[in-house]
Amino acid sequence: MAEAPPAGPNDEISVATSLLTSAAVVGCGVIGAGWASRLRLSGVDVCVYDPSPTVGTIIDEVHDNAVRGWEALGVMPDNVGSLTIASSLEDTVGGAGLVVESVPERLELKHATLVAIDETTGPETIIASSTSGFKPSVLAGPLTRPERLIVGHPFNPVYLLPLVEVVAGTATTEATVERAMTIYRSLGMHPLRVRAEIDAHIADRLLEAVWREALWLINDGIATTAEIDDAIRFGFGLRWAQMGLFETYRIAGGTGGMRHFIAQFGECLDWPWTKLMDTPELTDELIETIARQSDEQSGHLSIRELERIRDQNLASMLLALEQNGWGAGRTIAEQRRSQGGSKGTGD
Ligand code: NAD
Repeated sequence: MAEAPPAGPNDEISVATSLLTSAAVVGCGVIGAGWASRLRLSGVDVCVYDPSPTVGTIIDEVHDNAVRGWEALGVMPDNVGSLTIASSLEDTVGGAGLVVESVPERLELKHATLVAIDETTGPETIIASSTSGFKPSVLAGPLTRPERLIVGHPFNPVYLLPLVEVVAGTATTEATVERAMTIYRSLGMHPLRVRAEIDAHIADRLLEAVWREALWLINDGIATTAEIDDAIRFGFGLRWAQMGLFETYRIAGGTGGMRHFIAQFGECLDWPWTKLMDTPELTDELIETIARQSDEQSGHLSIRELERIRDQNLASMLLALEQNGWGAGRTIAEQRRSQGGSKGTGD
């Protein structure tokens, strides 16, 4: 079984050979540390800046998990890029072909950080923000050279999930976007070009909808955190990982396909199946309920243990998809091809 041949710009698979030799990561928490690992595992030398005193520990712990993940996938390279932890932003970004900004999601902090990067790098450096929500034109507002800024929105864990949403601002040049897309492919990723700027891009708008509905279900005492997670992971979550939403519903329409599906379920959109347009107030009581239920559900495992379980599951799913020549498995297959075939476990 194999998917139909690529049809559009977002489906193109062509991995560039190493066109990036050095990169900088500014802000090295959950996402920045994940970027640092993916870059290093792709042979890129990485310099990071994060004022947190625990940055070294976070980088090491995340990188350990990343290595395990790449070993499980069988794509662990022979050579890994170097890591430098700098003591100032200015010492970090100079000379980097790509600067990844992953500081917290606050506009004034993003602006201050991006301006500092803008002032300290040459015009050929691509500046990529990991922002989950801001439009690139909003981020680029105070920059002197906004033409080289894009949003490159990844997904946690960055070192395993191939998707990166690529969004251009009004000032971003097409050359910048194309170069960024090529770089992302060289990192074993699947860059998805978002056609137009919109708050929260594509994926987080979908996730926000599910998140809101889940908050209502807890708020109204309908389901617990564990029950909601079961409703996802034993059912439609498995479908989503391999076919997404539309192809899944096309099949759900039987041989009549999408037209029959909409004829059958279209009316439900007007029924009270969702409270999506309304937001539950995050009262102390609701937050406590969610946090307590989450502790009961998963508190027996540390976050790092949960990450390792997640990563092992993701690697196995990606390998299964690769074997079937389908979805995200095709990105892994391409990464393996670009490495020159099967790699060892890296032991
Ligand atoms: P985080 O809180 O885990 O990490 C942010 C890091 O930035 C911290 O380590 C902090 O010390 C550092 N920092 C703070 N001020 C700084 C400064 N002035 N200079 C350099 N570093 C600074 O946050 P995160 O979850 O990694 O999110 C970072 C960005 O990635 C946000 O824009 C977020 O929207 C985006 N993002 C997050 C996720 C996710 O699942 N967490 C997914 C995709 C994108």
